[in-house]
Amino acid sequence: METETETEKVYIALGSNMGDRESYLAQGLARLRRLGAVSGISRVYQSEPVGYADQGRFLNMACSMEVSLNPFELLEGLREIEDALARKRLIRWGPRTIDLDILLYGERAVTTPSLTIPHERMFQRAFVLAPLQEIYPYAEIGGVTFKDLLEACADKDGLSLYRPDRDTVSGLNRR
Ligand code: ADP
Ligand code: MG
Repeated sequence: METETETEKVYIALGSNMGDRESYLAQGLARLRRLGAVSGISRVYQSEPVGYADQGRFLNMACSMEVSLNPFELLEGLREIEDALARKRLIRWGPRTIDLDILLYGERAVTTPSLTIPHERMFQRAFVLAPLQEIYPYAEIGGVTFKDLLEACADKDGLSLYRPDRDTVSGLNRR
């Protein structure tokens, strides 16, 4: 009989381009900690919007955590955090107070209408790969490192470190 709770290492992307973006990232991270133990937190990047261009720049970061939730429970947990932080679902790929995406869930692949893991667009997006490879430096898929994938991203030039002079954004508890 299974006595210990199995945990899986998951990687989550956080993004915000509305209101007090730093605060939304900090609040999002604080709430993620209630879903599991956060083990790694990237620096914060700033990126130009992709998809729907008439909106403000995004702040993006990534974290890793240990969860005992299954992928669908985790997605539900992320959605509850998005709702709690008053995310408006008005325009697809439009402005949002907080966007929380599951990038990787252990070694698992999930392909359903509501959930795809690895996240469908993560390997073409510098704003996902740059923070992710900070906390998962030796990551590769099909023999290609995330660093090489990052170099090939079309949106790479629109990406920069946010406040490189500071360790992190205000209110963000990295430890
Ligand atoms: P974006 O693609 O910009 O993150 P949304 O956050 O509005 O857009 O997500 C749209 C839908 O994507 C969600 O309702 C969710 O069901 C679905 N989805 C599929 N795969 C994932 C994933 N890996 N992480 C988060 N949401 C996902
Ligand atoms: Mg999302």
